[in-house]
Amino acid sequence: MKLAVLAGDGIGPEIVGQALKVLRALAQDGLKIELEEAPFGGAGFDAHGDPLPEATLKLARAADAVLCGAVGGPKYDALPRAQRPEQGILRIRKELGLFANLRPAVLYPELVGASTLKPEIVSGLDLMIVRELTGDIYFGEPRGRRQNASGAREGFDTMLYSEPEIRRIAEIGFQAAMKRRKKLCSVDKENVLETSRLWREVVNEVGKNHREVELSHMYVDNAAMQLVRNPRQFDVIVTGNMFGDILSDEASMLTGSIGMLPSASLDARSKGLYEPSHGSAPDIAGKNLANPLATILSTAMMLRYTFSKDEWAYRIEAAVKDVLAQGYRTADIHEAGSRKVGTSEMGDAVVAAL
Ligand code: NAD
Repeated sequence: MKLAVLAGDGIGPEIVGQALKVLRALAQDGLKIELEEAPFGGAGFDAHGDPLPEATLKLARAADAVLCGAVGGPKYDALPRAQRPEQGILRIRKELGLFANLRPAVLYPELVGASTLKPEIVSGLDLMIVRELTGDIYFGEPRGRRQNASGAREGFDTMLYSEPEIRRIAEIGFQAAMKRRKKLCSVDKENVLETSRLWREVVNEVGKNHREVELSHMYVDNAAMQLVRNPRQFDVIVTGNMFGDILSDEASMLTGSIGMLPSASLDARSKGLYEPSHGSAPDIAGKNLANPLATILSTAMMLRYTFSKDEWAYRIEAAVKDVLAQGYRTADIHEAGSRKVGTSEMGDAVVAAL
């Protein structure tokens, strides 16, 4: 298993450093994994004048999976758009054909107080949003600005999905459900949108090959409401790019803590880019304050979704649960009575729990 490691900027190197500690500990137990690091984002720009240097892209292409920290920071804010660190993320997703974004939202029992919802609504939450990442109204053509007949300015975009695009994301949704509680909810706006009519039709067709998974459909407005009304009804949600963008942020807030949320972006052959859902947190970079658990949990997703090594993924997740149960907390999830630790100590605690 070949892993390209792109630590990036801000807290990226600190949090990725902890994930590597965990992988090296597993390697000592027999996990066969090769790691190679390369500059990316602002670090890529500093080293080679490009947020996604050629050599970094080559490494990422040759690898089976990519582990990213985060990119960006005030130092790079004044650069032209093409050289901004965030362009590195967009380009690598495109270059690697990563069309499926998987974002779990899990609320650990010890952190139930961090959620803005009442414990009786949210405790035990464990859902996953599968969002299509490369199509929909964000990329559909034509798009643009024009003047209408009466001279008023208009802006327009095109919501568009082709059958193969829907089919492949639906397939990922069913596969994700198979690895979990075997329930898939497809979210659309079929009562209003032609795109959604086709979406629902194709998802139903794909469902015929996955009879073990219980498939349901929900309108996006209802899904937004159900996520705060009764979020535990969901196992896996599959949806398009724009609806997924909004619903995945909503779902992540149910857990209250951005430092705990991993993510995966997959291609058609389960090659994946794994990264925490948060950014580079320049305000706390280099201070040993960042929570590394989202990045550590991203490596668990990598072992499960790219390498199909569920038992190793489970060991990492169990170790994270264990350190939380022991009371270890970084500053972002600290509360009275818990054991406040820094980034590096949290990494050590997870390794000890393994
Ligand atoms: P952010 O997620 O970096 O930070 C938001 C807040 O959450 C900050 O207060 C930060 O300290 C805190 N936070 C984030 N991760 C944390 C962690 N692991 N532990 C503890 N606290 C944590 O979002 P932002 O401030 O809007 O953006 C900062 C930079 O990150 C910008 O340059 C932005 O473009 C970039 N960014 C990158 C990615 C990515 O690499 N995929 C994603 C989002 C933002």
